[in-house]
Amino acid sequence: MSLLKLSGIGKIYYSEGSVAVGIRGVDLAFERGEFVAITGASGSGKSTLLNVISGMDSYEEGELYIEGSPTSHYLEPDWEEYRSKYISFIFQDYNILESYTVLQNVELALMHIKDRRERRRRAVELLTRVGMEKHLRQKGSKLSGGQKQRTVIARALAKDSPIILADEPTGNLDETTSKEIINLLREVSKDKLLIIVTHNYEEVEHCATRHIRIFDGSVEFDRGSKPSEISAREDKKFDYVPAKKKKFDLKEFLADLKDGIGLGGHVFASRPKLAVFTCLLMAVGMLGVFLMTSICFDREIVDEISSNMFEYRKGRVVVVRRDGDIPTIDEIRALAEEYGAKSYVECDYLIDTPIGVSLDYMPYRYYYSMGSSGTFLYPVSEYEGTFEGTLPDEEGEMLLRLPISEKEEYADAILGETVVYCDDVSFVLTGISYYYDNNLPAAAYVTDEDYMLMARILAFMNSSSSVMLNAASLGGSMFSIHDFSICRELGDKFYFSKSFGYDMPFSEDMTIGIVGITSELLTIEAKNMATKLPEEIADYDGYSVAFVGIDVIEKLARIYTDNDYCQFSLFFENDIEARRAAKKLFGEGYIAVLSNATFEPEPFEKFAKTFIVFLMVSIWLGGIISLAFFIRLCQSRSIVSFKNDIAIMRSMGIKTSVIKISMYMRSVIALIPATGALFGVAALIFTSPKWNGFFNYLYGWQYALICAGLLLIAIRVSFKQQSKLFAGSVKKTLTGGELND
Ligand code: ADP
Ligand code: MG
Repeated sequence: MSLLKLSGIGKIYYSEGSVAVGIRGVDLAFERGEFVAITGASGSGKSTLLNVISGMDSYEEGELYIEGSPTSHYLEPDWEEYRSKYISFIFQDYNILESYTVLQNVELALMHIKDRRERRRRAVELLTRVGMEKHLRQKGSKLSGGQKQRTVIARALAKDSPIILADEPTGNLDETTSKEIINLLREVSKDKLLIIVTHNYEEVEHCATRHIRIFDGSVEFDRGSKPSEISAREDKKFDYVPAKKKKFDLKEFLADLKDGIGLGGHVFASRPKLAVFTCLLMAVGMLGVFLMTSICFDREIVDEISSNMFEYRKGRVVVVRRDGDIPTIDEIRALAEEYGAKSYVECDYLIDTPIGVSLDYMPYRYYYSMGSSGTFLYPVSEYEGTFEGTLPDEEGEMLLRLPISEKEEYADAILGETVVYCDDVSFVLTGISYYYDNNLPAAAYVTDEDYMLMARILAFMNSSSSVMLNAASLGGSMFSIHDFSICRELGDKFYFSKSFGYDMPFSEDMTIGIVGITSELLTIEAKNMATKLPEEIADYDGYSVAFVGIDVIEKLARIYTDNDYCQFSLFFENDIEARRAAKKLFGEGYIAVLSNATFEPEPFEKFAKTFIVFLMVSIWLGGIISLAFFIRLCQSRSIVSFKNDIAIMRSMGIKTSVIKISMYMRSVIALIPATGALFGVAALIFTSPKWNGFFNYLYGWQYALICAGLLLIAIRVSFKQQSKLFAGSVKKTLTGGELND
């Protein structure tokens, strides 16, 4: 049985309407050990014949038998397998991987040897055989034509395939070098079938065993055809399994994966400039995705579009009486006990309302609130974590918990001395701590008593737009108070701003009644009237403002909250218990909801919110997609250079799947510096107060999302490139024509 047998083979080229005959009616048989020289005029069909034999080109007529098996039904994967097992191809234009070293060129063809050392040893051995041992580390592009061809021959030998095909291997070489190459080929292919196309028969004459001349696509003569003694190897059969029938083999896939990953490193490193550029591009892309994520998932925006009724706290149930009456503290306490709440807040106003906190106080200057959602006040009993200084344990003391970006602002604060204003009420700063998660609102902690006091005061302050003042001793005249300014220093005294219209001739025995908070009348003795404001606000001369001490405002606030503020909160161990309690409360004269309850917004508001959400997601996705597009654009030109490499690798018999995996790997490797950049930014957020204020703090899942997004981009870009890179046959790529489209 012949190694190869061509029976009536015909190949016709159809291109742009015209038909060209490549070869026709070719009947040939080849055996191992033959040195076949093919000659013929240019365009006679020599290359076509070799391409058909190598399975790089299809044939339309006849049948090609490989060790007796017909091939006319083969699909591309079948040809790939055949090539990888049987064929080594040596082209005229060298086809060396120019960006790889001599050693790498050969090692790539030795991928089937798993042991790296053994692979190297074998590559060196082969290169020594072709006389290239002195140039192992030289890059392909730096070699002379003869050296390139020697390397390619070593590479061809690496596969140890039974057939070596050489299409004018000396076409671009001078005479002496040509001779050397021919002799080398002869020497290395003693037990193989060597078919060599040449336009110069003389140079191969001395070692050729057979001479076939092609004329106009047909065999003109075939001299010296003789079965060689090595050819009778009946035992050797092409163990071909049709690609269609092949099942997915995990083991094979894993092996391919391993090879692909290994090759990916080479592919990546083979184009250093492109690699650096790609890395930079991906790093910039990564920061872009980071910024977009940071902007789009900003807590302030998320808060703005949420329809939460209350500030969410784990296990919190918000309760009011169904009849609208104000619950007494005893009632709340009893409810908490009955339902197994672990704690309760009777006037829960502050839980839902951020407060203004200011370090350097000026009356009526706008307060700035810290943290992305303002500052919330908490009872100190809820404090957890570390801090500097001491926890507040006396009235009028405060501990601040601030985003790290505020650190500079508070650098001068002296614990135990510095005064902090919480809306209007002053506190002495006794402790401070900073946190890095700048999504969280800032927090101010005061004693549990002060917390309730502040809850009442602020609920009152925010409810009353004006309060009537009935100066009884002034003949019952009524005046409006538009605002209270709280001044701890005044204690139980109060003071009306000068611009009340006139100086009130208060005397010790006068009584002043304040009405309007509720229907109740609060009376204040005139002897509690301050005659002078504390120094720091003495200059203030606003309109209709009552400056009140903490005791006075407390009295007012208590009247208000005992008469008007009806909402309280119960706290349970978790949301499940909270839900159960809320359900039960509902049936028993209360309206109770979990703090994560949302309200149904007005139709327009709902539309607006939906639109904003849509916009945010679109911006994020749009950013990601345009980034992918941009990266692809930047890469698409340079990627063409891979096309040739890939075609060579395929012609070397490296599996397409391995090459594809290596191309994906190349993209993935380029993500390493990008991931580094991401960690860099994350580290900045964690170490530098300034940057912490600048960027949004992201959580682990967000970083994972960013990485996944970028990985997706990388794979997508790679996939798109590959559809281009693997289009067309190996032959078309290697013989030009298709490289530039
Ligand atoms: P040789 O290698 O002997 O110079 P070829 O095998 O390359 O000749 O070409 C044989 C014939 O087939 C020529 O007439 C050539 O024009 C034609 N041919 C080769 N390749 C193609 C192709 N890709 N498309 C169309 N015609 C082709
Ligand atoms: Mg040719």
